[in-house]
Formats: sequence, structure tokens, C-alpha cells
Amino acid sequence: MRGQFPAFRLGNVLATSFTGTLSERHGDSVERIPTPQRLIDWLAVNGLAVDSCSTAQLDLARELRESIHAAATAAATQGALPASAVRVINGCSAQGRAAAVLTPEGERRWRLSSASCVEDALSVIASDAISVIAGERDGTLALCASPTCRAAFFDTSRSRTRKWCDMNTCGNRRKKARFNAKQRENPRSAE
Ligand SMILES: [Zn+2]
Repeated sequence: MRGQFPAFRLGNVLATSFTGTLSERHGDSVERIPTPQRLIDWLAVNGLAVDSCSTAQLDLARELRESIHAAATAAATQGALPASAVRVINGCSAQGRAAAVLTPEGERRWRLSSASCVEDALSVIASDAISVIAGERDGTLALCASPTCRAAFFDTSRSRTRKWCDMNTCGNRRKKARFNAKQRENPRSAE
């Protein structure tokens, strides 16, 4: 049953949505692609449908994910990119054969070389990560202000002052924590 697995958090940027499949890296971490089927589900939601995935392919996907996370974290903090992470990202980018195709409606879709080719899907994610980390897109990489999260996210706000990877989760949790602290300090002001 799929309901037993943690839900996906979807964002507008493929690479950081992918790194978001592991959340709370510095707290009680939540693995959102715990099984090959869940990676298949995640890829389908993100326009990269494959019909099968082995545990080795899942391992590769997670290795890519953590490499993107490491490189994006370094980029967000103006640190040197970890060589091993760069190697994995480049390897995944080079390994797959996916073609961008234009639909009659003018939308971009990805066509994978074969329906069982998780590597093709990973190459699309890797190349998305490369464009984000290389600063080619309009936005900046930043780290979530939540100490248990510290997820790398792509800030496209005009002022570039976004603090949370996801307002609905980390942002809200912070708001709630502040509210509860206030309650404790001054219980009668509660509404
Ligand atoms: Zn966060």
C-alpha cells in the first residue's frame, strides 16, 4: 500500500525537489523514496515515468540525490564543491540518454531512451542540478533556516530572502514553535 509511505513534497525545481525526497537530514530524517516503487512513483509525478526500477538503480538515485545535496549546500554557502559529489553528478548526467521534446501545445517533455531506464531519468535530474548549481537560472541556492532541515532550496523570490525550504512544513513548524513558546511565557494571551 502506498499510503504507508511518506508523501512527496513537490517543488518547482526538479533537482531540489529530488533532494527533498530525504527531509530532516539533521533531525529525525524522513526517507520519501524508501523502495524502488516509490522512486518510480516520484519520477512519474515529475514527468520522468519509468516502468521498473531495481534496488541498484534506487541506490544510484540516492547516491545522486546526496551528491546534489552536498554540491548544492556548498554552492549555497559559497564553499568549494566536493569533488566526489561533482563526479557522481557528472557521471549520472553523462550516463543517461533523455531527449527534450516539444509538445504541440508548446510544452517541454522528456523522452527516455527506454521505459526501464532509470539512468535516463537520473541524467535529467543531474543536468537540472548542474544548471542550478552553475547559477544559470534565475534564482539562488539557499539553505533552509530550520536547524533540523538545512535543505538546499532554490530561492526565486525577488528579494532573495526566502528562509524556509517549504513554507508549509518548515515555515509553519517554526511559526507553531514560536506560538507555543509565547503561550508558555504568557498563557493568558492565548487566543
Ligand atoms: Zn526546511
